[in-house]
Amino acid sequence: MQKFYIETVGCQMNVLDSELVYSGLVQSGLVPATDRRNADIILFNTCSIRQHAEDKIYSALGRLKHWKVLKPYGVLGVIGCMAQKDQNIIFQRAPHVDLVVGPGQLELLPETVHQLLDEKLQRTSEPNLVGRGEESGKKLLVSLKRREHRHAEVAGSFRLFDPVRNPEARLNRFQAMVRIMFGCDKFCTYCIVPSVRGPEQSRPPQEILDEVRRLVGQGVVEITLIGQAVNSYCYKAGGKTVLLSDILYLVSAVEGLRRLCFVTNYPRGMGEDLLWAVRDLPKVAGHLHVPAQSGSDGVLGRMKRNYSATEYRELVNRIYSTIPNASITSDFIVGFCGETDGEFLQTVELVEGSRFRNSFIFKYSERPGTKSAELYSDDVPEPVKKMRNRVLLAIQDKISLEQNRQFIGKTAEILVEGISRQFENGGVQLSGRTSCGRIVVFDAPDDRLTGQFLKLNIYDAAPFTLFGRQPEPVFHGK
Ligand code: SF4
Repeated sequence: MQKFYIETVGCQMNVLDSELVYSGLVQSGLVPATDRRNADIILFNTCSIRQHAEDKIYSALGRLKHWKVLKPYGVLGVIGCMAQKDQNIIFQRAPHVDLVVGPGQLELLPETVHQLLDEKLQRTSEPNLVGRGEESGKKLLVSLKRREHRHAEVAGSFRLFDPVRNPEARLNRFQAMVRIMFGCDKFCTYCIVPSVRGPEQSRPPQEILDEVRRLVGQGVVEITLIGQAVNSYCYKAGGKTVLLSDILYLVSAVEGLRRLCFVTNYPRGMGEDLLWAVRDLPKVAGHLHVPAQSGSDGVLGRMKRNYSATEYRELVNRIYSTIPNASITSDFIVGFCGETDGEFLQTVELVEGSRFRNSFIFKYSERPGTKSAELYSDDVPEPVKKMRNRVLLAIQDKISLEQNRQFIGKTAEILVEGISRQFENGGVQLSGRTSCGRIVVFDAPDDRLTGQFLKLNIYDAAPFTLFGRQPEPVFHGK
C-alpha cells in the first residue's frame, strides 16, 4: 500500500486544501504516512505570498534529490499557489519533481498521482531502467492565466474540489473550515492571490449547507467559513441574490453547531446586514478579522485597496457600535513602496485609535508578477522596515495587554482545543479560544476536556493569552 505525506505552508486556504487532498488521496486507496521518510508520495502545498516561503520550498525540494535516488518509484509533487505561479520553472529548478498542480486543479490530483505511480512502477520493473524513475513523464496541471484569457474562461479553468470530508484529515474532530468562495477580484497591487487562485466564484448556498450538515454529523461543533474576501460572497440564481449575511442565518440554524466564524473580511462591503447578523445570531462569533494594511491614504492608494483611512475608521466605529463585545483583528504591511515616516505615523495612529485585539504585522516583500513590483520601487531600506515592524508590534502588544487585563476576575467560555504544554510531574496545560478569539490556557489532569465548551475564571493576562482556572465545585447542603 503506497503512502503519502503532505507538507503545508501558508494560509487557511492551504490548510483546507491539504485536508481535501488528504481525503481525496485516501478515497483513492492511498494511505497517509506519519512522516516524509516512510512516504512514497511527498507533496508540498505551497504559498507565494512571501519570497521567503518560496525559497524554503525550493531548498526543501533540493534536499529531496537524494530521496528520489533511493526511491525511483516515488512521486514528488508541488501543489498550491507556487505551482500555479511558477509552473514549468519548478521542473527547471528541481528536475526531480514529478508533479506540479495549481489550486484550481486539485480535483485531478488523486488520479494523476496514480498514473505517475503506475508509470514509474512499469519503468522500475524494466531491468535496464531501474533507478531512473525521475525520467518518467512530468505532469503539469494548472489553470489559465488571468492576463491572457477572458474572465469566464479563467473562472471555468479553476475547478471546484469537494471530496468527502474525512475527519482523520483534520487537526481535530470538532473544528472545521468550509470554503464558501474561491478566488479574489480585488487586485491589491502587492498581492499575487488573484493570479494564482483565479476569479471570485461563490459556492451555491445548498452546497455549503450540505457540507456543514455533514461536518456537524461527524461531530464538528465549530465551523469557520472561509474566502479570500469572504464578505464578497454573492450567489445569484433564479432572480435571487444570496449574501454572506444570508449564509450566516442559513448555517446558524444547523442543529448541533455551536460556534460559527468567518474569515477574511475585506474592509469594503461590510454592510449593515452582515453586522446585524453577527449581532443577532448567538452562534456567530463576535471576532472579525478586517485587514487595514495601512493608515495612510497615500499608501492605501498605491496598494489599490479602494478605501481611505477615514472610511476604515468609520467601519471600525460601526462594528463597535453595532456588535457588543466585538473584537477586531487586522493585518498591516510596513515599509510598502515609498512609505515615508509621516505615512508610517498615520498607521501608528490608526492602530492606537482602533483598539484591535491583535494585529499581524508584515514587512513588505516584493513579489514578481504583482502590480506593485511592476509600478513601484521597493525603496524602504530593510533596517527601516524592521524598525517600523518593531514599533507597531510594541504598540499593539500594549493595547492587547490592556484589553486582556479587562478579563481578569471575569468568567470566559472557551472551546478547549488541546494540549499546549505537558508538565514533567504529570498534568497538562490545555488551551482554547473564546468566541471573541482570545486564547485561554488552564491546567488540567489530562486532555479529556478537549473539544468541550467550558467556563473558566480568568485570573491573569498576557498580551495574547488569558490564564484561567476551572471554578471550584460548589457543594450545597450538609
Ligand atoms: S483582497 Fe487584496 S490582499 Fe486579499 S487576497 Fe484579494 S488581492 Fe490579495
